[in-house]
Amino acid sequence: MATSGQQTSATRMARREVPFYRPDIGEEEIAAVVETMRSGWLTIGPRTQEFERAFARAVGAAHAVAVSSCTAALHLALDALDLQPGDEVITSTLTFTATGASVVHAGGRLILADVTPDTLNLDPVDVARKITPRTRAIVPVHFAGHPAAMDELLAIARQHGLTVIEDAAHSLPAGYHGRAVGTIGDMTAFSFYATKNLTTGEGGMVTLADGALAERLQTRRLHGMTRDAWRRYSREGAWRYDVAHLGFKYNMTDMAAAMGLVQLRRLPALHRRRCEIAALYTALLSDVPEVELPATRPEVEHAWHLYVVRLRPERLRLHRDAVIEELRAAGVGSGVHFIPLHLLSYYAETCDCRPADLPVASAAAETIISLPLFTLLSDDDVRYVAMTLRDVLRANRR
Ligand SMILES: *Cc1c(COP(=O)(O)O)cnc(C)c1O
Repeated sequence: MATSGQQTSATRMARREVPFYRPDIGEEEIAAVVETMRSGWLTIGPRTQEFERAFARAVGAAHAVAVSSCTAALHLALDALDLQPGDEVITSTLTFTATGASVVHAGGRLILADVTPDTLNLDPVDVARKITPRTRAIVPVHFAGHPAAMDELLAIARQHGLTVIEDAAHSLPAGYHGRAVGTIGDMTAFSFYATKNLTTGEGGMVTLADGALAERLQTRRLHGMTRDAWRRYSREGAWRYDVAHLGFKYNMTDMAAAMGLVQLRRLPALHRRRCEIAALYTALLSDVPEVELPATRPEVEHAWHLYVVRLRPERLRLHRDAVIEELRAAGVGSGVHFIPLHLLSYYAETCDCRPADLPVASAAAETIISLPLFTLLSDDDVRYVAMTLRDVLRANRR
């Protein structure tokens, strides 16, 4: 009975509660927000400008435009394309609804493409198949923090004169062939939502190289006014402004930016811890035949936002949903990222997308589980999660 696997089994570890996620906010972030609250300037202002400059420098981008969320960032980026009725935008079906909704809200026709079996990222072959004369943009999603196949996608975009807007909600910091995500496509959208790798509670950023486009985004994130509130109300500012184009209310607040500045300084250490946790999961689970571990292509630097395993249904008597329940019963929180868009009612009814035409994502939808991955996890927490999963799968082998 006492094999080495048994010795490290969760039954030998005291039961513990491991939530799916807990934010890593320290006294420094708290102090920075309080200081901003005392400063007399709460909304977009000097700290937002400082955060934009620091973020652009960290990523290596020429410009960074801070906004209220990644959803706002995606919408603002897509809005800049001035999509006409019938214009098509291709994105991955294995994403959060915000990606698809942004395309629809920007007036685009949403075209969902499948993912590759190894990384679950947008499949360039399926994208190429779905190009039409009406295609205007491609929106790759760097799933789980693993950059999509940008060389292939950029080649398709160049060939057809398309804009590439990356959904980098998961991928900070990440790299592809030595280039930082945020400097690769035409525009890149980041998320600072509570659960993301860098958080400001709610927040987002667009990075880009084109200065004129950056100015357009800056204007449209705040009502389309030619002067933002900071310049309007500061001593050197003027009260007069114009609205040449309708804009949105998508600005970041200085309280969020103050938190972001601290998180950005901590990002290298936070990222190192994420990499350690991912490596530990891989070491602990690599000999479990009932599960497929996340692949990492050699050309990428992984942001490790999520650790997504896939169950092998042919080896198991339990469906994924029941495995999640068993984990929960043992105190382990987990999640599913994502229910593909084509399986959600709105998209199923409005898109021309049958599950059989998106086979890889449709199959993954039944087998994926995201394990807890956040910087406050201890190595023992990670061991407990891995051993609990191993025990559940072992007990339910086919
Ligand atoms: C979280 C997320 C978003 C939305 O980010 P918000 O900042 O919450 O708007 C968009 N796309 C993906 C893939 C995400 O995971």
